[in-house]
Amino acid sequence: MTSESSETYRGFCHCKAVSWAVSGKPLRRVFCHCTLCQRLHGAPFVHAIQYPNSQFRWTHAGPHEDHIERFNIPEKPWKYRVRCKKCGVMVVGENTKIDVLGVFGGGMERDGDGNVKDWDKVKATDHIFYDTRLMDVHDGLPKWEGYPEQSKLLSST
Ligand SMILES: [Zn+2]
Ligand SMILES: [Zn+2]
Repeated sequence: MTSESSETYRGFCHCKAVSWAVSGKPLRRVFCHCTLCQRLHGAPFVHAIQYPNSQFRWTHAGPHEDHIERFNIPEKPWKYRVRCKKCGVMVVGENTKIDVLGVFGGGMERDGDGNVKDWDKVKATDHIFYDTRLMDVHDGLPKWEGYPEQSKLLSST
């Protein structure tokens, strides 16, 4: 039997110059519909899987900082997005206030069929910041105005 903490997921940017691994149980796995995610990722919403900083590591050759570009969100100075210097793909979101890092479902390693292994453990459980959505989603998951359990539940259909 493998323990939850031995679970490792890997991911990389489009050009593979930047790669990462996370292990253990995620803190939160959500579809985020906030305007920041929409603008930064060019998508209606983003599948974010959040881990304590200690469960994340870069796996590309060091020095790691040579390959990444970290930029600060001016309105939220504790938040960063990290992207590959070469291909520009957003690989990680960082919240220094709570020491949490988020990786994105789209960047995860796939098997030959294009699927993420052990998907059930990282698939999204909630939609957050659903008020600013660009599209309706009817998947039976809870839809929150802000963070799960800390904001108004808007819908659960
Ligand atoms: Zn890249
Ligand atoms: Zn967001």
